[in-house]
Amino acid sequence: MGKRGWTDEASEILCVGEGFRLSDVDPDGHPGYDGEKNNGEDDLAEGMEALSELQERLYAASRTGTATDSILLVLQAMDTAGKGGIVRHVVGGVDPQGVSLAAFKVPTKEEREHDFLWRIEKHLPDPGFIGVFDRSHYEDVLVGKVRELASADEIERRYGAINEFEAQVAASGTRIIKVMLHISPDEQKERLRERLDRPDKHWKYNPGDVDERMLWDDYMAAYQTVFERTSTEAAPWYAVPANRKWYARLAVYELLLAALEDIDPQWPEADFDVEVEKERLAAS
Ligand code: ATP
Ligand code: MG
Repeated sequence: MGKRGWTDEASEILCVGEGFRLSDVDPDGHPGYDGEKNNGEDDLAEGMEALSELQERLYAASRTGTATDSILLVLQAMDTAGKGGIVRHVVGGVDPQGVSLAAFKVPTKEEREHDFLWRIEKHLPDPGFIGVFDRSHYEDVLVGKVRELASADEIERRYGAINEFEAQVAASGTRIIKVMLHISPDEQKERLRERLDRPDKHWKYNPGDVDERMLWDDYMAAYQTVFERTSTEAAPWYAVPANRKWYARLAVYELLLAALEDIDPQWPEADFDVEVEKERLAAS
């Protein structure tokens, strides 16, 4: 509390709990943070050092084979909401050696022949790692539901399967942080228009995004159901207002920092005699 511009803990104010309504979240807001863009950007830049050190400790502690903790950051959002910016500007600030990133696209033929969690399990972070899912198993109850890619019964089954799966993952030592970056349809329109207006952004423009955009309300309803069915103690959801990129990045930073501080990883002790090694080195 009271640290830098935060008046509340991001992990508390953004957490999806009982009675949560996505429609009550203002995508333009910066809840819990008393500051503007320049403050937010400064706080993120200053804070990266602390995040980086904790990540290095987490990685180091796992190398000795004793610590089994890891973090899994799940990113879900409508197109252009800023998943890529989180990966670049927040996760990108730590040593890439300790990061495992998986982007989940339209399932391949082989992936479709297996259960929807098959391709997900293979990318769970090893001990000591920060794993990032750029889209995830939630696509199977979001686009899967909106586009009716599976039967209603199958979609229904998946919520329970996800909760069971995530509970197991959490029990094995992985802190799961599930983030939905919440933008408004107007903001998306603006960001898509910018991609069209600038030749250096054309490569980012996907005509299919407009098709999904036309189903906005269906997607929001699907997200609401996801929140109601799968925000659990072991794997809570956080709804992060994302019209202001600086806020979304700072908020996700705070969530990662809180998880790492909670793990409190310790530097591993040397498995050799430091004094003896100092003498050997000096004499060499
Ligand atoms: P960006 O556009 O920023 O590169 P992206 O995550 O939108 O990132 P794309 O390659 O544009 O990446 O899109 C991936 C597409 O794959 C999305 O439209 C998403 O809905 C779709 N997808 C991912 N998982 C599934 C799934 N399990 N079933 C069906 N579609 C899926
Ligand atoms: Mg896309």
